[in-house]
Amino acid sequence: MATGAASANLEDVPSVDLMSELLRRMKCSSKPDKRLILIGPPGSGKGTQSPIIKDEYCLCHLATGDMLRAAVAAKTPLGVKAKEAMDKGELVSDDLVVGIIDEALQKPSCQKGFILDGFPRTVVQAQKLDEMLEKKGAKVDKVLNFAVDDLILEERITGRWIHPASGRSYHTKFAPPKVPGVDDVTGEPLIQRKDDTAAVLKSRLEAFHKQTEPGMTSITCQKEKKEKEKEKEMRCPT
Ligand code: ADP
Repeated sequence: MATGAASANLEDVPSVDLMSELLRRMKCSSKPDKRLILIGPPGSGKGTQSPIIKDEYCLCHLATGDMLRAAVAAKTPLGVKAKEAMDKGELVSDDLVVGIIDEALQKPSCQKGFILDGFPRTVVQAQKLDEMLEKKGAKVDKVLNFAVDDLILEERITGRWIHPASGRSYHTKFAPPKVPGVDDVTGEPLIQRKDDTAAVLKSRLEAFHKQTEPGMTSITCQKEKKEKEKEKEMRCPT
């Protein structure tokens, strides 16, 4: 039966790419499954750390911001709906982002688990994620909280340059590319995100502190409490 992957003509893929993919899969087969959520304000380093964790643990990296930006660039119906909120630094509706995550989690690249970067950002999104995972009999293993002071973030965000195809990010002062404006690996041009300005950052930080931080902290604490109670029950049967 033809699957999406098999329908791409493998005869056209260079042998060296096929071999390195094969080696990667062999290395990955012994890795345990992992499901991670990265939470943190814009510029806290989620996008920088994700590719490193992804390669080490063979996970898929699902960054809702990147997925939404791709949809905006391609002018898909989803992108058209998301654009206005994104330009203003506000959150896109829960239904839209839950839909893209639900679809993405079915991909073969997420078989060993995932890194959610920028999702969930509201309590509703967190509840929907629980429902999606419950259906698969899975649960989140770790939530990594990238706590960085707001004062540091403006300089990080306004000096940031990105290679859109790979997600590699640079900074004019802290991590400059070898040639200004050019990706070190591919030589392709770097871009600055439209919402990486001091003015839009203000709204993005507000959304983070008002909508994401309080809800996520309370959910994580409730889960930790439940786990501890479960552990206690197992140790001290009544
Ligand atoms: P950052 O974490 O740097 O603010 P992202 O790339 O994660 O940036 O997100 C960019 C924009 O995409 C957000 O400002 C928001 O408009 C939208 N977005 C991304 N993820 C979500 C989400 N889970 N829920 C709602 N909106 C989202």
